[in-house]
Amino acid sequence: MFQYHTIPVTAFQQNCSLVWCDQTLEAAVIDPGGDIDVIEWELERLGLQLKAIWLTHAHIDHAGAVAELARKRQLDIIGPHEGDRFWIAGLPQQGAMFGFPPAEPFEPTRWLHDGDTVAIGQEVLQVRHCPGHTPGHVVFHAPQAERCFVGDVLFAGSIGRTDFPQGNHQQLIDSIVQRLWPMGDQTVFIPGHGPESSFGRERQTNPYVGNT
Ligand SMILES: [Zn+2]
Ligand SMILES: [Zn+2]
Repeated sequence: MFQYHTIPVTAFQQNCSLVWCDQTLEAAVIDPGGDIDVIEWELERLGLQLKAIWLTHAHIDHAGAVAELARKRQLDIIGPHEGDRFWIAGLPQQGAMFGFPPAEPFEPTRWLHDGDTVAIGQEVLQVRHCPGHTPGHVVFHAPQAERCFVGDVLFAGSIGRTDFPQGNHQQLIDSIVQRLWPMGDQTVFIPGHGPESSFGRERQTNPYVGNT
């Protein structure tokens, strides 16, 4: 079965998630923005073997610890979409701007595209490209568990910012309506910040995307 555990990391309380297959106890970490010691403590506590880093997008609070963690544990870096290449290159400047520990750029082992799949143990997740917050933003959908890891695309009661370079409000709305809603109202999403919600609840109550 597919399992996950979310750990808020960095001063931005970014929802880093461990996702794993309980048949093999192999795990991937989604968006290790920082606090590697906390992430490793949770891996130990849960008895998991970390195999890969999966990235929704390359903002500092999501990707700040990727280079260090990948090097330390010799992990593949999967994602995001290549549209975020300039954000990865700018990680040192992002870190300095927001007072983060020094962050290094990196080269993903594999860029992701809409319709790709990623696997951990016996579990397979679907990748959807959801640009708007950043041009290379992707989400990870686990239909077997009715869960979706959406990064900063959608939040409980809000949506991602689009006032960054290459942010695009209409594109973000289109990503949410055309790529998230079809996953089903019952699907629970894990946003990059704040509490979980379901797509159905957001369709009814979210002021930015209600009635869409
Ligand atoms: Zn972001
Ligand atoms: Zn964020």
